[in-house]
Amino acid sequence: MEVRVGLGFDSHEFDEDKPLVLGGIRFEGHRGLKGHSDGDVILHAITDALLGAVGEGDIGELFSDDDSRWKGADSRVFLGEALKRVREKGFEVVNVDCVVVADSPRISPAKRAIRERIASLMGIPPDRVSVKGKRKEGFSGEDGISCICTVLLMR
Ligand SMILES: [Zn+2]
Repeated sequence: MEVRVGLGFDSHEFDEDKPLVLGGIRFEGHRGLKGHSDGDVILHAITDALLGAVGEGDIGELFSDDDSRWKGADSRVFLGEALKRVREKGFEVVNVDCVVVADSPRISPAKRAIRERIASLMGIPPDRVSVKGKRKEGFSGEDGISCICTVLLMR
């Protein structure tokens, strides 16, 4: 058996004019995230972790910000392409672990919905997906949301 680990990180600033989408779940009434696509930091971090684990580059190489095809794109498309490459190489996803760093919105009430959405997008049971919310606790980074994620693959 061969195992691979992948690490992904993503970060987007808030954008008043966009809806907030995290892990494929829409947060009604909260400002969204700036970005060429829908700004879904969780799906972007998972996509990068998957691509990293199989040596397929990164999300910026595959879906360039300069390419108008990806303007306003649904990030599920990016995740789907990364999963396709994982499966083409004969790997399956063992588990996914994500930390979402945000002061607002609170992640915990939506955790279950996000886990279930990610699990269904990836075709794995929800107990193989972990989503943890973490506040910045006074750290004065840019005003937005970031996500760190690891994935484990095996074949
Ligand atoms: Zn991103």
